[in-house]
Amino acid sequence: MTRKYDMNWPVAIFLTICPFIGIIGTCVYVYFYGISFIEPLLLILFWFISGMGITMGYHRLFSHKSFKTNTIIEWILMICGSLALQNTILKWCSDHRKHHNFPEMEKDPYSIKKGFWHAHIGWILEKTPEDNNRIVGVKDLEKKSVVIFQNKYYFHIAVLFGFLIPLLIGFYYERPLGALLWGVFLRITLVHHATFFVNSLCHFVGTRTYDVYSTARDSWIVSLFTFGEGYHNYHHKFPTDFRNGVRWFAFDPSKWLISILSLFKLTKDLKRTNEYFILKSKCDSIYNVVKSSLDDTSSSSKKKFKKSFDLINKSFTKWKDIDPTFRKKYSKQEQKNVKRYKKEINILFNDLKRFKSSILTEHKIQSKTI
Ligand SMILES: [Zn+2]
Ligand SMILES: [Zn+2]
Repeated sequence: MTRKYDMNWPVAIFLTICPFIGIIGTCVYVYFYGISFIEPLLLILFWFISGMGITMGYHRLFSHKSFKTNTIIEWILMICGSLALQNTILKWCSDHRKHHNFPEMEKDPYSIKKGFWHAHIGWILEKTPEDNNRIVGVKDLEKKSVVIFQNKYYFHIAVLFGFLIPLLIGFYYERPLGALLWGVFLRITLVHHATFFVNSLCHFVGTRTYDVYSTARDSWIVSLFTFGEGYHNYHHKFPTDFRNGVRWFAFDPSKWLISILSLFKLTKDLKRTNEYFILKSKCDSIYNVVKSSLDDTSSSSKKKFKKSFDLINKSFTKWKDIDPTFRKKYSKQEQKNVKRYKKEINILFNDLKRFKSSILTEHKIQSKTI
């Protein structure tokens, strides 16, 4: 039986008109009136402010509590996030926590199992059944004054900061229409679809380094326009980590800003996943990819893989034995040992990757022969 598609018309009309005015309107305006250098700056500035409000505020602070901050920064992040027009903190966090707690299940609002379009924007265009639409799992946020205030005045905040301020800037440099097109409509289109791509594209293309069973994937390309949110496989595996791009060079401006603010004591208690679990998940993922073809150990690469995997696990056990809870500060000797185990694990990990490729190639050749 085909499901009846019940469209949420006001939202659908807004999400159609906004990109239409933002893209076509801006092109037409540029054709007739050219570009003032302030306009691309307005676009970038307001995109950065509203995008970071979502990634650093709505996502990492309010949804996952991956760091703590003072009330002033909470309010700034609430205002910035409101400019993105992605609903209130309560609704956004409720949906997002469902996405993490019930991945790809009926309760996951943007489950990729329902298709790319549904995960991208379809779930917003459709009228959600009452049961699934209810705001749940955010009791901790409901008590916060910043959240209560936003819940009451969300529309006013969004219009004042996201619409009137760019318009006033436009009047100041005498091109109010240009400011509206670049700083409001085009900017909202970009910030909307950037976030939507995390839910769609990042569950569709990319690598699964930390958890091969998750549909979430890491994509550095998506990170470039989502302020670091493209490392989605890592994020689903370790959702409370304040970093999404865990490697120091991974493009993750949200992580960098949270870290920089911590130097001035403006953010604190930054949650970092212990390196043990990060390395362990990478090794386990490689094992999970080839495990089904390991039964027949006649090939030399399979034997070598098994041997390296056993050795790697021995190093992990020795590392864990130092401090099973990973909370203690290590002594100098223990630090030295951990450094040695990490080095061993990294060397063996590279071997595992090499053997994995040979096993998969052998497997391909065999299946072709069969
Ligand atoms: Zn996801
Ligand atoms: Zn998340």
